[in-house]
Amino acid sequence: MKRRKVFITIIILLLVFTAFLLLEYKKARQPGSAAFNDTPKIDNPIVKDKEKLVLDGIRIVLDPGHGGRDIGASGQKGTIEKDITLKTAIKIKSGLEQVGADVKITRDGDNYTSLDDRVEMAAKHQADLFISIHYDAFETNDVHGMTSYYYRKEDQKIAEYIHQQIFKVDISTRNRGVSFGDYYVLRENKVPAVLLELGYLSNAEDEALINTDDFQNKVTTRIVEGVIRYYSG
Ligand SMILES: [Zn+2]
Repeated sequence: MKRRKVFITIIILLLVFTAFLLLEYKKARQPGSAAFNDTPKIDNPIVKDKEKLVLDGIRIVLDPGHGGRDIGASGQKGTIEKDITLKTAIKIKSGLEQVGADVKITRDGDNYTSLDDRVEMAAKHQADLFISIHYDAFETNDVHGMTSYYYRKEDQKIAEYIHQQIFKVDISTRNRGVSFGDYYVLRENKVPAVLLELGYLSNAEDEALINTDDFQNKVTTRIVEGVIRYYSG
């Protein structure tokens, strides 16, 4: 009688264990579980069809303008250039990394970084591209829109690729074109460099637009797309 009880207990335990294993197996086969996705999915509209790291091996230095005691321009509604350039640059960094680029950022917090240190980082990192992010200001508040700058003639093409991509679909601001710009971070850079002025904080409409998630998402995605097009074109 006693042996029979032990036997039944073992059978019950085995059944419970088998049921547990089956449940775990079912869970693992559900979409979204770690076991179901053998390869990590890239949640980026740019690579949705290709799913390959198109910028693999490309070294990029992102440069959020200003920082620390150097606040840059400021808008009537209180937007400070150093804050918004950092926000934009961090978004671009994430977008570029998703497609395989090796990205460094000249500052990742609100700290002062000299122009020389920024340029130095690009050289040290042996970057293929340096992208400086700025938002403009003008004495009068009627000036608005975006401009992309290059210093060396050979960097004009990459500036054009990025700029054209930004304005490919409506972005609700004025296209001020691609221009030569005598900026320190372009002129003194040892690597290909562009400087993007993504709007005027001194213009109320631009300032409001710049602060929307929609604008930030659009502009950063298109900058990443522009870089991809340049390297795959
Ligand atoms: Zn600036």
